[in-house]
Amino acid sequence: MTVSAGRPSIYLDHNATAPVRPEAVATICAALQASGNPSSVHAAGRAARARVEDARASVAALVGASPEGLVFTSGGTEANALAIDSAIATGEVRRLVIGATEHEAVVNTARASGLPVEIWPVDSRGVADLDWLGARLQAWTPEDGRPFVALMLANNETGVIQPAASASALVHAAGGWLHVDAVQAAGKIAVDFTALGANTLALSAHKIGGPQGVGGLIYGQRARISPRLHGGGQERGLRAGTENVAGISGFGAAAEAARRDLPTASHQAAWRDAAAARLAEAGAVIAGEGAERLPGVLCMAVADFPSALQVMSLDLEGVQVSAGAACSSGKVKPSGVLAAMGYGELASGTLRASGGWNTTEQDWDRFADVWLAAYARRQKPAGRVKELA
Ligand code: PLP
Repeated sequence: MTVSAGRPSIYLDHNATAPVRPEAVATICAALQASGNPSSVHAAGRAARARVEDARASVAALVGASPEGLVFTSGGTEANALAIDSAIATGEVRRLVIGATEHEAVVNTARASGLPVEIWPVDSRGVADLDWLGARLQAWTPEDGRPFVALMLANNETGVIQPAASASALVHAAGGWLHVDAVQAAGKIAVDFTALGANTLALSAHKIGGPQGVGGLIYGQRARISPRLHGGGQERGLRAGTENVAGISGFGAAAEAARRDLPTASHQAAWRDAAAARLAEAGAVIAGEGAERLPGVLCMAVADFPSALQVMSLDLEGVQVSAGAACSSGKVKPSGVLAAMGYGELASGTLRASGGWNTTEQDWDRFADVWLAAYARRQKPAGRVKELA
């Protein structure tokens, strides 16, 4: 545990990566110690195979899916790419429709395909506009090919939950393929793949307390998955390469723990809302307020306090949050999600706090205390200079 000014630091960045759950650490260590290749027929190989298949059952159960329809991947990015590329590989898809607030894993894979990409707009709360989709699908022509639509289940920056089941009904009525990125939703709210009616659904271990570098794609009977990697025929030929047994085992353990904790995961919402009310009183705009959101996510924006400065000010006080989406370069860009929601200039002053399985009410309180103090200092720079002089 790190300590800042005599206090333990607070980690409210679960949407970037959740702390690894103790159950996952124990399972990963056991798998590493046991070793063995799941394709080997001897005892060590069979034990490794059992670890992979146990994990498959646990991860599938977290989202109400069948273990036979889960292929493990290197993470959520690869799972999204496998879905999009598989749809395109059917030869039936000629254009892609994606939600306006999708993660870059979806946006950039769609753009890299070379097919025309249409952006499905969201309203000011960040909720995808079903009327728009209905109208677009009505106007779909045979020349457009089979409709392919990607919609995330919950947004990584705002936590806004999308109407994926309603979208699914529209897409299937048009004979299309709906892909759902459930990387942020799984383990935080109940997810039922069958009830959603999606063709494919992407997951990632490190958002639910599993290790980084492991994910999975759930696929239903209507989805034909085409392998991106060719080799030894692992994962029923869908994803070649010796399985990441330790990582997959950790994913399974985290999924089990997340499923067990689901009934209490919603407690975060009241703690988050209490913090949000204090920030709003000071002038912050709460993004996605009024929409259904993940319980542990708070995304807010102010005009006069740039995101990067907010993150640094809080970090100095031992409170770790993020400026909208974590970005691989470490650079902070104005939030594209808030821009899509019509936030304009405010998008440059976004902050995201995201809690999860080990977050307490006190964490949310302290986050609000520290942010309010930082904002007050920011608003009175002249007074502060006088104080220091
Ligand atoms: N999709 C969403 C909504 C995400 O938030 C993320 C990660 O931030 C990803 C996909 C990518 O997942 P991974 O980091 O496992 O590749």
